[in-house]
Amino acid sequence: MSKELEALLALSAQDARLRSLEERLARLQAQREQLEETLAAEEREMSARREALEALRRRSRERAAEADDLDAQIRKYRRQLEEGLLSFKEMEALREQLQSSQARMEALEEEAIALLEEVEREEERMRERETSFHKWRQRIAEELAEVDREIAAQKERLEAERSRRRTLASSVSAPLREQYDRLLREYENPVVPLREGRCTGCQLQVSEITVERVREGREIVSCENCLRILYAH
Ligand SMILES: [Zn+2]
Repeated sequence: MSKELEALLALSAQDARLRSLEERLARLQAQREQLEETLAAEEREMSARREALEALRRRSRERAAEADDLDAQIRKYRRQLEEGLLSFKEMEALREQLQSSQARMEALEEEAIALLEEVEREEERMRERETSFHKWRQRIAEELAEVDREIAAQKERLEAERSRRRTLASSVSAPLREQYDRLLREYENPVVPLREGRCTGCQLQVSEITVERVREGREIVSCENCLRILYAH
């Protein structure tokens, strides 16, 4: 095999190595994105739950305040009745109002108590959720840090391998490198072995003359069909 072909094969092997490193890096970056998305979704869900709890607390406070207001109103009605400075008709009306207010007060108090109990239950649930969310988030943060370390290491390796590629490329003549680079834009494997008279890139039979030239190995030979560079297996 000619030195030129050997240099080209080394370059081609290096490109395959680079490709697999780049793919691994892309997978790591996708993994990182996935983790961040999951984290963001969970955080949105948690803040929705916190808001729901806050709304429940607000509703509970409002009911309690309503009950307090009504209680003050009822006291006022009672005082007025006790003072007795009203006409019979007015007293009757006031009694009716007092009755309906008391009925409403009972309903309100029941509602306020139910709400308060619900708030307490939800707060307890929320504390548990916050605790497990906190633990989970910490685990995700650790995973993210691990992925980041891997990404950094992978980038460093890629940089070293790219520099190695430049060295390997510089030992291939300029015209052949151009030919190779052109093929590389089209194929992942621009340099392939010839097997039983077939180009292993396109799987087609090549001519006897081509087979012979590849076997001699004195020059760079291309497949007649796909133009990949051939070497003897
Ligand atoms: Zn071919």
